[in-house]
Amino acid sequence: MERRETSVATILDGKEIAGLIREEAKSDLDVLDQHGIKLKLTVVLVGDDPASATYVRSKERVAGEVGLDSEIIRLQSDTTQAELLGIVDRLNQDDSVDGILVQLPLPKHIDEDAVLDKISPEKDVDGFHPISVGRNVSGMKGAVWPCTPAGIMKMLRLKGIETEGRHAVVVGRSNIVGKPMAMLLLEANATVSMCHSRTKDLAAITKQADILVVAVGRANMITSEHVKQGAVVIDVGMNRVDGKLTGDVDFASVEPVASAITPVPGGVGRLTVATLMLNTLKLGATRRKQYELIQR
Ligand code: NDP
Repeated sequence: MERRETSVATILDGKEIAGLIREEAKSDLDVLDQHGIKLKLTVVLVGDDPASATYVRSKERVAGEVGLDSEIIRLQSDTTQAELLGIVDRLNQDDSVDGILVQLPLPKHIDEDAVLDKISPEKDVDGFHPISVGRNVSGMKGAVWPCTPAGIMKMLRLKGIETEGRHAVVVGRSNIVGKPMAMLLLEANATVSMCHSRTKDLAAITKQADILVVAVGRANMITSEHVKQGAVVIDVGMNRVDGKLTGDVDFASVEPVASAITPVPGGVGRLTVATLMLNTLKLGATRRKQYELIQR
């Protein structure tokens, strides 16, 4: 086996970075408040999935911390698609609502695409609407990027991690993490490779990464054998193993090889909710034609 040097990686502390993102959101929301503008995020939760209920509670709590009004609409799991679309439509028309988020996953009898498509792009704080995706990918203004990859980019910037000219490898190609992550890294002038379940010899590609982002949903699948000495490793995975939250990256094996790494828990998960506040702020201020008030 190849001999690897060991070093102590910088632990990218999601709690600390999420705190900085929340402070930024709060200071901008305070400015809007001083001008008599109060923004509101509405989250729709259908059914009683415990993980979704936890995420929604944390969104409500963080909204309160940064000074954003929030409203949670809790619906029974047998809510029909027509009823849900009607509620989204009402929120689209409601001038007091700045951001609409329908918590995923939805019960199986509801077509997620139809619901995401119904959300007005100007209130689409998750950035999942096809118009938001199109605007983002074409470099147009008016949309926000999905919270998890946007939060990761914010972390890289806050931690002074250079992307330009570096090789970034993204493992996973979902619409909510992998694809937007790759696009954002490309926009930040990284050279980007994307891997997925059909990739042949995954380790040969991930080992070329200066920045490795893993969003697969398979506990501990990335080990030191997949990582180049000195790489920055971002673990998006959230898996339950014997009741314990576990990432896609085998932290114990990879940490000695990496130059910086996000832990699970305490890494990327924290950034996602904090970034949702920034997304709501950005869309709300834009829709109310007050964006210049918060431009830095
Ligand atoms: P998806 O299930 O939508 O996508 C998983 C991706 O991983 C797919 O593109 C799939 O490839 C790929 N994949 C599956 N097996 C392999 C393999 N053996 N080798 C390489 N690639 C593989 O997941 P999400 O993107 O929604 O989420 C990924 C993980 O991130 C989950 O653990 C999720 O819980 C977590 N997550 C965490 C968030 C946070 O805030 N921290 C936010 C969102 C997600 P293919 O397309 O070929 O099927």
